[in-house]
Amino acid sequence: MDPHPREAGRPTAGTTSRDGPGSGTALLSLLLLLLRGNCLAQAGATSDPLTWDENGYVLYCPCMGRFGNQADHFLGSLAFAEMLNRTLVVPPWVVYRHHTPPYTNAHVPYSEYFQLERLREFHRVVSMEGFMEELAPKHWKPGQRVAYCFDAAARRSADRSSCPMKDGNPFGPFWDHFGVDFDRSELFSGIAFSSYYRAQWMERYPASEHPVLALPGAPAQFPVLSEHQHLQKFVVWADSFAQEAEGQIRALLPRPYLGIHLRVGVDWRNACKMVKEGTAGPHLMASPQCVGYNRQTARPLTMEMCLPSPVEIRRAVGTWAKAIGAKSVYIATDSEPYSEEIKEAVDKEVRVVHRPSQLPQTDLYILAQADHFIGNCVSSFTAFAKRERDAHGRPSSFFGMDRPTSPRDEL
Ligand code: GDP
Repeated sequence: MDPHPREAGRPTAGTTSRDGPGSGTALLSLLLLLLRGNCLAQAGATSDPLTWDENGYVLYCPCMGRFGNQADHFLGSLAFAEMLNRTLVVPPWVVYRHHTPPYTNAHVPYSEYFQLERLREFHRVVSMEGFMEELAPKHWKPGQRVAYCFDAAARRSADRSSCPMKDGNPFGPFWDHFGVDFDRSELFSGIAFSSYYRAQWMERYPASEHPVLALPGAPAQFPVLSEHQHLQKFVVWADSFAQEAEGQIRALLPRPYLGIHLRVGVDWRNACKMVKEGTAGPHLMASPQCVGYNRQTARPLTMEMCLPSPVEIRRAVGTWAKAIGAKSVYIATDSEPYSEEIKEAVDKEVRVVHRPSQLPQTDLYILAQADHFIGNCVSSFTAFAKRERDAHGRPSSFFGMDRPTSPRDEL
């Protein structure tokens, strides 16, 4: 697969033939056009080079959490780059292979799942692969690579004054994947990534002197801020990926279908202990998506919302399957599918589908397309599907909460 198809920041290939009109018959022109289109597709969509952006770049390691966490951070980072009018260098997804050979992290280009070009409808972007291959050799050479971090982070490093860019996993493997070492550090404090600090960022780090802001982590909060959730609409599935997932929906899931996300694995059970013990506070991980962002007015987070019991799974599935007249139920899960409980909760004719070892992104695609979705309030994996559904006006609910808090309820 092309590592950076239709790279944003590149002029896109024109659709008219450079041979000009009148150079042959209409049929010949058409053939030439088709032939050229085919060659371009094989060569990676376009051969035009990337151009350097004098407004500068934001570059970061998506070094916290798995896909859902990285996606939350990605939206905030996109907003940060737009705020500073710098091009965002879109990192690959870091995939941990703790239990599968070769046990090292995979760095999966953004464009494997999503269309880079669609991000450009919001702001300028370039893929990390494209940046490193084409721009870095000329504009961000070894010897010029500055790391930027909070001074508190630098104090944790061995010399207590350098940004810990490559300390441990996934930090070291990420930068090594792109052959990057850092030459010096710029430390900051008294500043944050929110729009409140825009003027300070611009003043402290003008692009003329600081062309590439390379950061050890995302310049964003977790979970994604309420005001950045709408950026999800620019995260659009790659055509080939969507086609494959659509094929699964057509083959397996008669509509209307109910999609459910069960986040019930052992790591999750441990995290939800905080709810049981009452130490979670008003918010836990992605829970603002359902209890509301306002900490003062947040609805109480219950154990059924964090770790639904089999009884609650049966109740919610039964309720929503009936409400939409479901012909099938799709179960996405990090471990146990509770298939038997779910079959008991719905009519006999309803098809219950679970595909073990499904790619997380395929599960997300299928959940996002469902006629109704029941997610896990605290999970950022759920949050990805929920945001995409919101962007398309599709209804969602959560285990333990049939009617989630909407931004309007918070006013
Ligand atoms: P969170 O921990 O739930 O907030 O979400 P993350 O995405 O950050 O981490 C959970 C990870 O567990 C996902 O990225 C997946 O790798 C895996 N996972 C969780 N739920 C599912 C699921 O329904 N299907 C698949 N295939 N993987 C899942």
